[in-house]
Amino acid sequence: LNRFPPGESVSVSTPPVFQFDNSYARTMEGMAVAWRPAQVPAPRLLRLNRALAEELGLDPDALASEAGLAVLSGNVVPEGAQPIAQAYAGHQFGGFSPQLGDGRALLLGEVIDTLGQRRDIAFKGSGRTPFSRGGDGKAAVGPVLREYLISEAMHALGIPTTRTLAAVATGEAVYRERPLPGALLTRVAASHIRVGTFQFFAARQDTERLTRLADHVIARHDPSLADHEDRYLALLRAVCERQAVLLARWMGVGFIHGVMNTDNMTVSGETIDYGPCAFMEAFDPDTVFSSIDTRGRYAYGKQPSIAQWNLTRLAEALLPLIDTDEDRAAERAMAVLQAFPDRFSHHWLAGMRGKLGLPATGDDEADRDLANDFLALMQRHAVDFTLGFRRLSSVLRGQPEPLQALFGAEADGLADWLARWQARLGAAPLAEVARGMDSVNPIYIPRNHLVEHALEAATESDNLAPFEALLGVITRPYDERANDALFAQPASAEESAGYRTFCGT
Ligand code: AMP
Ligand code: MG
Repeated sequence: LNRFPPGESVSVSTPPVFQFDNSYARTMEGMAVAWRPAQVPAPRLLRLNRALAEELGLDPDALASEAGLAVLSGNVVPEGAQPIAQAYAGHQFGGFSPQLGDGRALLLGEVIDTLGQRRDIAFKGSGRTPFSRGGDGKAAVGPVLREYLISEAMHALGIPTTRTLAAVATGEAVYRERPLPGALLTRVAASHIRVGTFQFFAARQDTERLTRLADHVIARHDPSLADHEDRYLALLRAVCERQAVLLARWMGVGFIHGVMNTDNMTVSGETIDYGPCAFMEAFDPDTVFSSIDTRGRYAYGKQPSIAQWNLTRLAEALLPLIDTDEDRAAERAMAVLQAFPDRFSHHWLAGMRGKLGLPATGDDEADRDLANDFLALMQRHAVDFTLGFRRLSSVLRGQPEPLQALFGAEADGLADWLARWQARLGAAPLAEVARGMDSVNPIYIPRNHLVEHALEAATESDNLAPFEALLGVITRPYDERANDALFAQPASAEESAGYRTFCGT
């Protein structure tokens, strides 16, 4: 990293927008490059997340002011910030790149939120850095608003995720297939440390920095492991467990990340990097949305095993810390990795029990079969994943028609399955079970055609109304509202045919 010139570190006195405490910049010397965001010509606030600002202990009005906009656009580096581009490596679609890093992102600094949690404040789209390679370091309005929508929807669904504090239009064009209006996102994360961050130092056999990184992660995400006699193995186990939880949550809402490269997997267990992601409609485990994922590596149904593959890359990076004896280190890491499918399956079953209104305990195999058989039925009849689960509760309220309509006239197998399901529910109080199901099965998700419509209106006509409307709906995903009925509808056949999302972010 020393071959990169340090960026000027200019701080400007502004009203104290953030109270920074930058532990990464402080302790991770040689793991990032001091850099500055690019100046932008005509910043304009597209959206400020006021609720998140308050959660962070920030003043939303100050952020929305001229001075706040100057900060959120990157034009002014606020006092206490130490903007850095973080180094990381990563396996992309299976191939290793020893150097990726923040090519269009900068970590501005860390704050302690109102709950005492340390949170990163970072830019995405803030211009070139020493890690940009051929890229322009910029982002366009569409992808920035996509990340805003999907990350905030994920949060509202209770799924660990990076958040979006603000989206700012820059007033300059970015060039993709054609000129597009530029924008910049302020991302909030438990940390931006990725599997690929560990790989960066492991690939350089820089065990000293690797150890420092691992200790930093333990202090930050797993403080209870600090005195553990096997703390690096325990760290691996903790990261595996968080990812098992996360993957089970993704699978439970039909979320497809789209580009599960190791640089896009956090050690905090938060979902990160919303590029070609989308929510599945008609259930099919082979669903792929990313235009560049031509082989279906990151298809919906492959996500848990890809997570395990990525975690194996993390384990490899950690080997020198786990045991000085290489074979013993590998053996011990392997035992942790091999537990992943069971851990995932455990969390998946817990999620499915919630979705089906089943008690939290019972015959695991029988409940797993019940859930899998429902999924198989949905697949056979191309039923919308979200509505398929949501409409189940109506059956318990004596209204099977909304569910039956999804399966079509000859819904063979559905009646049998419903009978099995209701037998399993037994004497449970059905009204209460139905209410519980509605509190975990969303009715509103960011449907692809609605997201595309909102991004297009913002990009082509500078019209943010569809974005605002959609954001309002998907951040309250569980309570059904008559006025929002259209937002619950799947795309028409034409709209969903060959739907692809692009990485051109
Ligand atoms: P991603 O596909 O977003 O996970 O990014 C993979 C790598 O490409 C990271 O190192 C990014 O910083 C870099 N990258 C993506 N887009 C750009 C861009 N427009 N300019 C510079 N670097 C980029
Ligand atoms: Mg990435």
